[in-house]
Amino acid sequence: MTTAARAATAFRARYGTGCAGVWAAPGRVNLIGEYTDLNEGWVLPLALPHATYVAARPRADGVLHLHSAAAPGVVRVRAGDPAPGWAAYPAAVVRALHEAGAAVGGADLHVESDVPTGAGLSSSAALLVATALALDGLYGLGLAREDIARLARHAENAHVGVPCGVMDQTASACCTEGHALHLDTRHLTYRQLPLPLAAQGLRLLVVDTGVTHAVGAGEYARRRDGCHEAARALGVRALRDVPYEELEPATAAVPPRLRGLLRHVVEENRRVAAVAALLTAGDLRAVGPWLTAGHRSLRDGFRVSCPELDLAVAAACAAGALGARMTGAGFGGSAVVLVEEAGADEVGRAVRDAFATAGFRPPRVFPAVAAAGARRVA
Ligand code: ADP
Ligand code: MG
Repeated sequence: MTTAARAATAFRARYGTGCAGVWAAPGRVNLIGEYTDLNEGWVLPLALPHATYVAARPRADGVLHLHSAAAPGVVRVRAGDPAPGWAAYPAAVVRALHEAGAAVGGADLHVESDVPTGAGLSSSAALLVATALALDGLYGLGLAREDIARLARHAENAHVGVPCGVMDQTASACCTEGHALHLDTRHLTYRQLPLPLAAQGLRLLVVDTGVTHAVGAGEYARRRDGCHEAARALGVRALRDVPYEELEPATAAVPPRLRGLLRHVVEENRRVAAVAALLTAGDLRAVGPWLTAGHRSLRDGFRVSCPELDLAVAAACAAGALGARMTGAGFGGSAVVLVEEAGADEVGRAVRDAFATAGFRPPRVFPAVAAAGARRVA
């Protein structure tokens, strides 16, 4: 049974009647452009085949019934009120819709997902965007994809309390099959760049390390604040406004403790532009070294990597990968690896062996195929 069919079946079992529809939104993996969205820069994510499915039906009594296959029990709250635990995410979407003036009432929701949670693959954005799209469908709101991305980001920031950028929600809402999304996070404008991996004999692997280091949340906020402080010191709105050509004088103009942050963001924006140009030219193999350079910068300059991610990257590259980097916010989560199709099994094995030798828990390695963004599936 597909996950979409499972969602509809489980909805009927839970609520005793059929749903009005099923809406899906994918997780994502970011090819390159890490921590640039916190600085209004550019990113290049792709949607994964892994998605979150929301089966839903409107309710006339203004109450939300929230149920997930991943959590016990049904959470009941008035539409617009906060909800505890995981249900904070869908409740936050309704709250944000109300703030935007949308006439959204109650709903019965059932959630099924095959996006790994807490693996840096954006299960939170998938849940938010799938919920927003479901409510858009139930209440005929006619929201554009970019509106849904903005709204989901605002919901996560303001009503769940996660100070994330806009990349994850936009990737989930706006990606298309077979493409990476070259996104300008200041203007929410984008280009769909073809990613014909299989046609070129290539594969993109995701290595889910299975770890999340607890320091992550605090360190994430510290990096964000440091970037904003550097922008203020330079008199620009965001570090996006520092051109690569002006990196050296800009570096001299900020306090030493902010230099690694500044350098990473400015160079990472340039790496995104370089990789976007290579995808436009169809030269996918040449992307590899940019990924590895990005990882080095995140490890040594921005300092958000961890031993598991560093080992995944080092082992993959030593086994012949074209390039590799951590993806997502770091401190655990996943790495992304570009490999020749013919060498993919060997690289996967090398990473698993390296983890075993280091005494790390076994990583999950799977291919990332650029899949569709959010959509109605039933
Ligand atoms: P990531 O987005 O990288 O997977 P987050 O910590 O941002 O990690 O989001 C994970 C959280 O999102 C979970 O702890 C849970 O609260 C919520 N979540 C995601 N998917 C689901 C789901 N299918 N059912 C219930 N909660 C979910
Ligand atoms: Mg998340």
